Amino acid sequence: MAWDFETEPEFQAKLDWMDRFVREEVEPLDLAFRDSGAPYDRKNAVYRKVTAPLKAEVRKQGLWACHLGPELGGLGYGQLKLALINEILGRSTWAPTVFGCQAPDSGNAEILAHYGTPAQKATYLQPLLDGDIVSCFSMTEPQAGADPREFRCRARRDGDHWVLDGEKYFSSNADFASFLIVMAITNPDVPVHQGASMFLVPRDTPGLNLARMAGLGGEPLGHGHHAYIRYENCRVPADNLLGGEGQAFAIAQTRLGGGRIHHAMRTVAMVRKALRMMCERALSRRTQGDVLANKQMVQQYIADSFIQLEQFRLLVLYTAWHIDKGHKKEARTYIAAVKVQMADVLHDVVRRALQVHGALGCSNEMPLAGLWMTVPVMGIADGPTEVHKLTVAKAVLAQHKPYEGVWPNDFLPERVAEAKARFAKYLEHEADNL
Ligand SMILES: Cc1cc2nc3c(=O)[nH]c(=O)nc-3n(C[C@H](O)[C@H](O)[C@H](O)COP(=O)(O)OP(=O)(O)OC[C@H]3O[C@@H](n4cnc5c(N)ncnc54)[C@H](O)[C@@H]3O)c2cc1C
Repeated sequence: MAWDFETEPEFQAKLDWMDRFVREEVEPLDLAFRDSGAPYDRKNAVYRKVTAPLKAEVRKQGLWACHLGPELGGLGYGQLKLALINEILGRSTWAPTVFGCQAPDSGNAEILAHYGTPAQKATYLQPLLDGDIVSCFSMTEPQAGADPREFRCRARRDGDHWVLDGEKYFSSNADFASFLIVMAITNPDVPVHQGASMFLVPRDTPGLNLARMAGLGGEPLGHGHHAYIRYENCRVPADNLLGGEGQAFAIAQTRLGGGRIHHAMRTVAMVRKALRMMCERALSRRTQGDVLANKQMVQQYIADSFIQLEQFRLLVLYTAWHIDKGHKKEARTYIAAVKVQMADVLHDVVRRALQVHGALGCSNEMPLAGLWMTVPVMGIADGPTEVHKLTVAKAVLAQHKPYEGVWPNDFLPERVAEAKARFAKYLEHEADNL
């Protein structure tokens, strides 16, 4: 009997160490260095100084970049163990950086490992794995995100070079990145899924122009780390093509699946944090002669939140298990399902936690408003909820067939008649109870 919900004691010891280390050493960074881009700013001397000993400690514990397989210097934990790790790291915006597994670099490293040439790996992958540089994934355009058929950014071959022209929007961390992975159409005469390619573009390439930085809601206009980029006659050597010509979509899928499940794992941590705050508040705040925890509607908030969290967590772990087992088809469906659920569960639980905190919950003096802003991000980044629901629905429908004839297979008059014919000898004295 292989189903099991227990963690091996040796691995639990590592999780316990991480839990303590993140609480005592890493979460204070979130409070002291609050700019949303700070964990990506490798040039900042202060950030380097405060994180260096922490990263060294993580390496000493053998927990650096634990999303990686052994061929890339990781421990090859697999997704299920990674889920338990990310449930801890997700509490902190700095923790993924301190543990060498932050998005989008983790996904970018994955595609470089799969598709990069030895020279590309030496130039881009190794420093990324070492945490010395950060990278950017530049795919979404101002006029199109979820539907790539609307993409316009082009790359044309010119001798030994490719020349990129077009615009990209929400290219996160482009301001800190040493290089960008850019999707561009190389053959407009075939469907975009076969006609787009990926390029490695060093950040200082002439023609890569950061037109504007967008931030998330709450950040002042003009501040933020999601770049609106104009590629204007941006010329890179032919060797900077990543994978083959026309392979952009296969490459993107390699990274997006992993990215989505890792976000979901970290969302478990955020939902837990919101539930913890909700319970603490409910047990502390008094109104009409009693604490909120004794009001039935607040109890319902807490029960519903707990149930949603546990259901979500199990779905995340089950999805991780499918990935580890190499069940590709199931993994695709379950990743889409988890992607949908993470925004919904985060929405419901943070909304309730915020509500029981009253004005304080709405304020900028609790982490709740910050968590609230991550709700739409989880429902949009890496593909909108609606698109993932389509994936789930198609996969579910593919397991079913239409019925033949006029009546459904479960049509009672026919099924009952069949069953009665089968058991006729026992039913001859029974009243007809159809
Ligand atoms: C915090 C954050 C970071 C990001 N970082 C990056 C990055 O680093 N690199 C990058 O390239 N992109 C990045 N993105 C962009 C992200 O990938 C896109 O936002 C996403 O693909 C959706 O595209 P869009 O925003 O253009 O929305 P659209 O494609 O315009 O969709 C808008 C809405 O239309 C509806 N919709 C869309 N398609 C369908 C459908 N088939 N059926 C029904 N309804 C539909 C949905 O409600 C959807 O939310 C980031 C986004 C966020 C929020």
